Amino acid sequence: MHPVDTLGRPIRDLRISVTDRCNFRCAYCMPKTVFGQDYRFMDRKELLTFEELERVARVFAGLGVEKIRLTGGEPLLRKELEHLVERLATIEGLDLTLTTNASLLAKKAAALREAGLRRINVSLDSLDDATFMAMNDVQFPVTRVLDGIQAAADTGLAVKVNAVVKRGVNDAGVVDMARYFRGTGHTLRFIEYMDVGTTNGWRLDDVVPAAEIVERIDAAFPLEPIDRAYRGEVAERYRYVDGEGEIGVIASVSKPFCGDCTRARISAEGKLYTCLFAARGTDLRALLRGGATDDELHDAIAVVWARRADRYSEIRTERTSERTRVEMSYIGG
Ligand code: SAM
Ligand code: SF4
Ligand code: SF4
Repeated sequence: MHPVDTLGRPIRDLRISVTDRCNFRCAYCMPKTVFGQDYRFMDRKELLTFEELERVARVFAGLGVEKIRLTGGEPLLRKELEHLVERLATIEGLDLTLTTNASLLAKKAAALREAGLRRINVSLDSLDDATFMAMNDVQFPVTRVLDGIQAAADTGLAVKVNAVVKRGVNDAGVVDMARYFRGTGHTLRFIEYMDVGTTNGWRLDDVVPAAEIVERIDAAFPLEPIDRAYRGEVAERYRYVDGEGEIGVIASVSKPFCGDCTRARISAEGKLYTCLFAARGTDLRALLRGGATDDELHDAIAVVWARRADRYSEIRTERTSERTRVEMSYIGG
């Protein structure tokens, strides 16, 4: 029996954070100055091992999970990540993907593809170097991300490109991005800037609503809506009327989709979270390292899921963004 939560939602997607470290300092995620201090990262022994992760993934698959996304932090910073991909790719019927800032993708793409990865999401917020460098805050140039995308595509990985849009920072470039990726086969998706974590100083005024993004692109390259591919898909999809591909918008703030949210997340140290905005997780590592059987793990996760009542984005206000919660780089975006 697959569990459903208190709002009738099944568990279909699992996001696994494989590291809390990152080599970028995107201001909307891991701003450089957090209360004047640098980040304190987990020790290696705190991280779930690949063996533990495979075990957990198989248990989740048994609970109804059909899709796993590897994320972080920057997942490609986890040493020999391809070995984890190799293990997870053997789970039958599982759609496996990975989200990366692409800084190491040119080096890693072939090994990931060989290990069994079929698709990948690359984050790129602007094609303008000055804007992008200001956003990643480590002077990382656009060309190296584009090289990573090319290397991934060359090895046969399907690529989606994700851009977080922040008003007054990179919103002037959305039409340029659409122009660049039209006709490449890489779907471009725009994500509304969210109040994740507690360090990015989020304000509602910084959010560019998805409808406005669609309007701007539609004025340059006419679009028409298309159906979502499956229940729980977060992106609203549009295709170019001239047949040059499609874009997606993720309207987590202006049009929340909690009602269909079928996602669970595990942090790199093995805590299970049932919402991106949760304050507390359940310690799966303690169970794993304490000798729990697969059935015991299964039951423990099923109990957590059955109690789930999360719908943060539907009840969000400027005030709720002051609540305690974990950082996105920790929980996995
Ligand atoms: N480091 C990888 C990357 O950037 O692709 C994976 C982890 S990152 C936390 C996952 C995704 O979350 C990225 O696409 C990033 O742009 C997005 N993200 C981070 N902070 C966000 C925020 N405040 N609002 C919306 N999306 C955010
Ligand atoms: Fe790193 Fe990704 Fe967060 Fe940027 S969004 S700081 S690349 S984890
Ligand atoms: Fe899912 Fe929580 Fe986001 Fe709502 S706010 S869509 S419940 S992760």
